[in-house]
Amino acid sequence: MRKKKRTVFIGKVPVGGNNPVVVQSMTKNPPSKLNEVADEINQLASVGCELIRVAVPTEKDAYFLSDLKKKSILPVVADIHFDGRIAVKAIENGADEIRINPGNFPQRQLTDIIRAAKKRKIPIRIGVNSGSLEKSLVLSASSLADSALRWVKRFEDLGFSDLKISAKSSDAAMTVKTYRILDEKSDYPLHLGVTEAGTVATGAARSAIALGRLLSDGIGDTIRVSLTGDRVDEIAVCYEILRSTGVRNVGARLVSCPTCGRIQIDLTRLAQEVQKIIERIRMPITVSVMGCAVNAIGEAKDADIAIAGGAGYGLIIKKGKIVKNVREADLLSEFKEELIKMELL
Ligand code: SF4
Repeated sequence: MRKKKRTVFIGKVPVGGNNPVVVQSMTKNPPSKLNEVADEINQLASVGCELIRVAVPTEKDAYFLSDLKKKSILPVVADIHFDGRIAVKAIENGADEIRINPGNFPQRQLTDIIRAAKKRKIPIRIGVNSGSLEKSLVLSASSLADSALRWVKRFEDLGFSDLKISAKSSDAAMTVKTYRILDEKSDYPLHLGVTEAGTVATGAARSAIALGRLLSDGIGDTIRVSLTGDRVDEIAVCYEILRSTGVRNVGARLVSCPTCGRIQIDLTRLAQEVQKIIERIRMPITVSVMGCAVNAIGEAKDADIAIAGGAGYGLIIKKGKIVKNVREADLLSEFKEELIKMELL
């Protein structure tokens, strides 16, 4: 059962309360690389990213936020470290939320940041993580959670409560324990993530374990899967975690076989291409891509659309009924055509 949190608005996106868990990612480019960062945002939005975090390392980048806001179709979260003047400029130039680790700033600058955020009515994410915990503390789930909660209290004492919290560790078990404490002790919305989670395989596994356990317990209001790799994969993993936990059933779920000695078709390439085609679909459907007849017909019965491989050809099956028998070379284009007919593309 999801515990009801306060709601904050990041641009027009509501976070917390009874709202759906929101999928977030982060660009590789700063705002001063305007066209590159806008292209990244468009690409991520097209596969389901709903909030975008952008690193704002310099004052120049903070000024570029106003241009970026005109181009961005997603609400922009400005990520700022060390210099409160950049945070204030980012807020003044249109950031929809700022993410700071308050311990990184000269403390006298916090009141300026809060004043600017209040004036523009935007939330602040207090984001602590294991790599930047106060030097005096020994790293543990409770020290991470306590550090975040101490900052929350400090902001409340300064008259600001439009807050979201994150407290990330690169360790999945510590992440789970930390967020359980935060969920119990606070009613602010929580942004979940495992920090520095690794490359696609390790990062996806570690994030799925940590976020999956938390989401299954009803904890979490926004999520990010951090991967050393393509950001588009981050979004795909986020949605797979949301679907697999039953928290949010959105987008196409792919079922594909691992291949074996019976295979007579290049199924690995086919499944990867199908994954790319279906990542733009938002309807909750099941797509199956199987290498041979052994399991294909059974899986296809439960799929909205399926491909079953043969020797140089493949069947396209819709809701268990064979609709086409096509050459391997034509399988992808025919598959796409069927998705278009189903008004999914
Ligand atoms: S569907 Fe066929 S090719 Fe794929 S793993 Fe099963 S038996 Fe092997």
